[in-house]
Amino acid sequence: MNEHVSTRHFETLAIHAGQEPDAATGAVVPPIHQVSTFKQDGVGGLRGGYEYSRSANPTRTALEENLAALEGGRRGLAFASGLAAEDCLLRTLLRPGDHLVIPDDAYGGTFRLIAKVVEKWGVEWSVANTSDPASVREALRPQTKVIWVETPSNPLLGITDIALIADIARGAGARLVVDNTFASPYLQQPLALGADVVVHSTTKYMGGHSDVVGGALVTADEELGDELAFHQNAMGAIAGPFDSWLVLRGIKTLAVRMDRHSANAQRIVEALSAHPKVTQVYYPGLASHPGHETAAKQMRDFGGMVSFRVAGGEEEAVAVCDRTKVFTLGESLGGVESLIEHPGRMTHASVAGSALEVPADLVRLSVGIEAVDDLLEDLRQALG
Ligand SMILES: *Cc1c(COP(=O)(O)O)cnc(C)c1O
Repeated sequence: MNEHVSTRHFETLAIHAGQEPDAATGAVVPPIHQVSTFKQDGVGGLRGGYEYSRSANPTRTALEENLAALEGGRRGLAFASGLAAEDCLLRTLLRPGDHLVIPDDAYGGTFRLIAKVVEKWGVEWSVANTSDPASVREALRPQTKVIWVETPSNPLLGITDIALIADIARGAGARLVVDNTFASPYLQQPLALGADVVVHSTTKYMGGHSDVVGGALVTADEELGDELAFHQNAMGAIAGPFDSWLVLRGIKTLAVRMDRHSANAQRIVEALSAHPKVTQVYYPGLASHPGHETAAKQMRDFGGMVSFRVAGGEEEAVAVCDRTKVFTLGESLGGVESLIEHPGRMTHASVAGSALEVPADLVRLSVGIEAVDDLLEDLRQALG
């Protein structure tokens, strides 16, 4: 890691950590090392430790060092997708007979990976409301090895007190994993609050431009970092050089984007809260949100994700999604452009009928960084 930059502020680290100007040419941006193998100077004579790009690639190394610096960790690892990162993490931490606790509002793909794939390998799981410490304690078993937390959560923007759950995990001899995708390290630093591993879908705010799919793991535990790196290489779902480069490029503007996402979301939340066709707004920045105080304590700002319920039920919620013109109807989130979706039929269709089912009249917004007046006008016309 770049120890000499680690005392710098977030915005500076985002632009410089892991990214010295290229030694050969002085290029200020790390080159895309689009290559599979590296010339050895005699057998075993590796230049800079590079031998084969699944094991390590200089563009990916730049991203991995950058990720570690931004989350205040010691080891960052970049994967082909958020779910590839989660798969590597789960298979590193869990063995047959082990148990993990997952949140009742987990990302649908995380739930599917655990309930439909990992479970087949003999791992047990139970669901808890992680915003309620009593619910987490109740879900613990002697074999619990992992507590999984997503805060803010998707799509209901539930807030979990990371420091509190970290205490519970420590007491139970379990590891605390925090999916920090919705907040990004600019708004929230789970490792500093006691988490063992941070997970990201870098597809979202980190990449920030809806042009790449990627994932990341960051830990401050050197030994666990080595184990994860071993599994990353052994399992092979790495981020390619060009995808690593796109995420690195996106991260340079993360701080300014998050500030604008948060400011635009705040204005939209005010408008939705006053709208007669909106029956409920989910946003941790609202003083009425049950997790507001915790969010204010552990987050720099409240981010760009907003969900709301529409009077008139599922049909009307779907109609609102169909009527927007600036908000694009689509899955995913965290890009510069505003997106709208119906979780029940789109991102969360895979949790229908489970404890994680979402309300049918729910609409989710990923508030982009366009002019907020255009976004407000678009929602006004779509709500009718
Ligand atoms: C998108 C997402 C994931 C999965 O990441 P992919 O890059 O799509 O594989 C995990 N967690 C959260 C909160 C997400 O939004």
